[in-house]
Amino acid sequence: MKRPILIHPDPRLKKVCKPVADISDELRVLADDMLETMYDAPGIGLAAPQIGILDRLIVLDCVKEEGAAPQPLVMFNPEILASSDDLNVYEEGCLSIPDQYAEIERPREVRVGWLDRDGNPQEQGFDGLWATCVQHEIDHLEGKLFIDYLKPLRRQMITRKMQKLKREKARA
Ligand SMILES: [Zn+2]
Repeated sequence: MKRPILIHPDPRLKKVCKPVADISDELRVLADDMLETMYDAPGIGLAAPQIGILDRLIVLDCVKEEGAAPQPLVMFNPEILASSDDLNVYEEGCLSIPDQYAEIERPREVRVGWLDRDGNPQEQGFDGLWATCVQHEIDHLEGKLFIDYLKPLRRQMITRKMQKLKREKARA
C-alpha cells in the first residue's frame, strides 16, 4: 500500500528516530509499503520519517539503468561503520523536498551495518550513488535533510518554496 510522503517543513522530519527493537510482520509490511511508495514516486531511497513513522528504517534501490533488475534494500537500524576520507559530490534531491536539487559533498565510500527484514545482521560497503543515497537516508533518521548542508540563505529560499507549495496543495 502506498503511503503519503511528508513535505518539508514538517516537525516529524526533524526528529531523531528510535531504534527498532524486534522486526515484526507489521514492520515488514511497513518496509514493503515504503518500497512501493519509493518506486511509485519515483525515487531511489525513502526513510520511515518521510511517511511520518519515527522508526530507524530506510529502503533504497539505486539501480537506474532501464530494464536492469531491481535491487531493493531494506535496512533496519542502519549505521555507518566507516567512511572514506575521499569525498564525492552528487546533485541530491529528496522526495520530501520536491523539484529542488543541490550539489552535496559526502564521503565517497561508506561501510554500513544493519538488520535485514529477517532480523539478520548485514554489513556491506557502498560507493558511487549508493554511498550518497544511503548516507542521505540515514541522515533522515537523525532529523537531518540535505538542505541542512547548504548555506542558510539557500536553505531558507528552498523552505519558502516548499511552504508555498504546501499552501497551494492545501487549497487544491
Ligand atoms: Zn530525502
